[in-house]
Amino acid sequence: MAANSLGTDVSGRMHIFKPLLIATSLLALHGRISAAEPASTFSKTDLRAAKTLHERASKDDTAYQLVQSLTTEVGARSAGSAGDKAAVAWGVREMQRLGFSNVRTMEVKVPNWVRGEASFKVLAPSPQSMPTLALGGSVGTPPEGIESDAVMVKDLAALSALPADAVRGRIVFFNNRMERTRDGSGYGAAVPVRTAGPALAGSLGAVGVVIRSVGTSTDRFPHTGTTRYTPDGPRIPAVAISNPDADALERQFASGKPVRLRITSSSRDLPQAQSANVIGEIPGTDRADEIVILGAHLDSWDPGVGAIDDGAGVAIIMGAVKLIRELPVKPRRTIRVVLFANEEFGTSGSQAYTAAAASESARHVLGFEADFGAGPVWRLSSRVNPAQQPIVDQVYRALAPLKLARGNNEARGGADLDGLAKLGMALLSPDLDGTNYFDVHHTANDTLAQVDPAALRQSVTAFAIGAWLGAQNPGDWQPVTTPKPPRR
Ligand SMILES: [Zn+2]
Repeated sequence: MAANSLGTDVSGRMHIFKPLLIATSLLALHGRISAAEPASTFSKTDLRAAKTLHERASKDDTAYQLVQSLTTEVGARSAGSAGDKAAVAWGVREMQRLGFSNVRTMEVKVPNWVRGEASFKVLAPSPQSMPTLALGGSVGTPPEGIESDAVMVKDLAALSALPADAVRGRIVFFNNRMERTRDGSGYGAAVPVRTAGPALAGSLGAVGVVIRSVGTSTDRFPHTGTTRYTPDGPRIPAVAISNPDADALERQFASGKPVRLRITSSSRDLPQAQSANVIGEIPGTDRADEIVILGAHLDSWDPGVGAIDDGAGVAIIMGAVKLIRELPVKPRRTIRVVLFANEEFGTSGSQAYTAAAASESARHVLGFEADFGAGPVWRLSSRVNPAQQPIVDQVYRALAPLKLARGNNEARGGADLDGLAKLGMALLSPDLDGTNYFDVHHTANDTLAQVDPAALRQSVTAFAIGAWLGAQNPGDWQPVTTPKPPRR
């Protein structure tokens, strides 16, 4: 209903409409929506193309073939490794094969930490060996290892509360259990023990750290992941053991007898190495100087082959953009795929990309990130300027066949697009179901067997439709001006 038609209504019911009239006038003042026009909507052509994407994505196994190829032909690809270089070459080759335009690399300097071999032994009260992995970035031990009595604590707060002589000279066992959640919030709560535990324990005079893995599985695969020392603080070796082994170690502490441990690790740092972000795109048409970016990371941790972290994400975004490229219509905005270097060990690829984006004439207006496994997508969240909420609603309606939940407008996004999002870029987030993600994350068990082809196809469908409609927004993607909350 047009607002001015209300003005001709001089009947006694006029007062009923008055609040509506005022509300629409306010909208006209504050937003871009004119009181005389409805909010802009997608064209029939664009919605028909979204339907085509749905039909084709449900039969297209490009994404599965990509993650199969990456995990088989490249395998593990931690920053600075030979696998990392091979992955960059793979990304360029596959983007060219899929027909992406302007395929290129952006050189990035990355750390080059080498895992080596690690062992973990309980010496007393009841001797036994447990499978272990060094935490990423951890220093190694002398060849004979470190041997010491141990102290068990739950988390950082519990360690800080101990008297100094309870920690000095000991190995600290962080025994914190991670909660299984669909949205990954359990990870955010548990991960500080891994990232900051060794630095804190070292500052209190501990000689080593072992953590209960930040993971949810009951198998015997330990989970690695980055730890960060403070620049001037002591650097002590840190390893992880699996949940069932942490349970067993906890029982040894429960005996009340002194627990004595030995850790060996040959982890070490090599000089920085060269890696690269891999970039390809579908050029836009009338709004080509606006970029809709889809990001995932090309590196992985080394014990597994990075199928769910983040081979699946790489495959989802490449598979989605391949389908958009094959549409009979071209996108209005430029759709760009970026495979980021070194997300796992300091996000160097993201930092280099964000810095370069600032000097690029094209503007990054909307981002999608796939770094949470192989799907399915279960919810659509966003982080957009409130004026664009009606467009997000329309994207959600176009995704109706997928029966997604409607998330809120506080999407946090992933690590690689965090920098651009902090600069105000809008995010659309087809949220991947993380219920089982942390059973496998950062373990030797992260292989292709963890990827379900049907869930992957469904995820590609959601990303393809989201990215396509994001590129066709009939209005503007305005910057998001609210401060971005930290990632979990
Ligand atoms: Zn990841």
